[in-house]
Amino acid sequence: MSSRRKFLKTAALSSAVFGSGNIFAEKSNPYKTVKGSAVVVSTWDFGKTANLGAWEVLGKGGRALDAVEQGVKIPEADPTNQTIGYGGLPDRDGFVTLDSCIMDEKYNCGSVMCLEHIMHPISVARLVMEKTPHIVLAGEGALQFALANGFEKVNLLTAQSEKDWKEWMKTANYKPESNIENKLYNKGNDPMPGGPNNHDTIGMMAMDANGDMSGACTTSGLAYKMHGRVGDSPIIGAGLYVDNEVGAATASGVGEEVIRIVGSHLVVELMRGGMSPEKACTVAVQRIVKRSPERSKTIQVGFVALNKKGEYGGYSLQPGFSFSVKSNKVEQVFKAASYYK
Ligand code: ASP
Repeated sequence: MSSRRKFLKTAALSSAVFGSGNIFAEKSNPYKTVKGSAVVVSTWDFGKTANLGAWEVLGKGGRALDAVEQGVKIPEADPTNQTIGYGGLPDRDGFVTLDSCIMDEKYNCGSVMCLEHIMHPISVARLVMEKTPHIVLAGEGALQFALANGFEKVNLLTAQSEKDWKEWMKTANYKPESNIENKLYNKGNDPMPGGPNNHDTIGMMAMDANGDMSGACTTSGLAYKMHGRVGDSPIIGAGLYVDNEVGAATASGVGEEVIRIVGSHLVVELMRGGMSPEKACTVAVQRIVKRSPERSKTIQVGFVALNKKGEYGGYSLQPGFSFSVKSNKVEQVFKAASYYK
């Protein structure tokens, strides 16, 4: 077949598949950035405090990248938050292992996976982005890199998290579960079927006064996971994606399902095709239901997104997911709508 005929055949086939309303079609300039309207959006209600940290930078006209790093460092250092950084619940062998990533307005990104003993993995991820030719460092190598760059080695396992882990060991037969009853964690507020989640993440996206966007995502992952397990949070495109032309998205919930659909990148691409942030998050959640119809009934996944116009929205599998927003006009925690009621 001549290459011209081959091209025509392929072109006809793709328009038959996608139709004229192809949602992934590039538009020349889908979003007009509203300069001067800085905004920060993050997962869950604990995002509210983290947003205030980010706002110290954004409110003074600072860069979105600095804002998201400063913002997520707050829950990373909070020993009462048992799903992120210091005080995070350990894996089934008792090790607190952290997953974090960061992405700026120029598609630069950095990530650390399964990092131990470091209070602020997000700052190590930023250093990977800025000081190495790589994007991801994992495990022992990530720790060596952090120590070589002046980070201090600390014990991240608090007395409370050690106590909870030992309690779990009594009955769990060393078997990781995505959602388990853990009354100490989450204070019983999460209406998940079968009990509260044993995991959460801070994912944060910001747009600065210049109209530039960045994002950060950091977690201790699923409690009592297998040693070495890495979730979606440090995987660029899964737990976080930032495209400065279109917008940004981040995820929280059972990472395996988010990775399977490359969730945050999917949300951003859906926004590129013209969907609102909430609609794009809804379609991504529906994709999880389609891929994993049974499992989706018993787990939580939530997405939240921010576009270049400063519009935001979220959606989750189960009720209970929330996201926090801070701008000059808004300081609020929003409950996301959910697929299952
Ligand atoms: N996404 C995280 C993970 O799978 C956990 C969470 O956000 O709930 O490690």
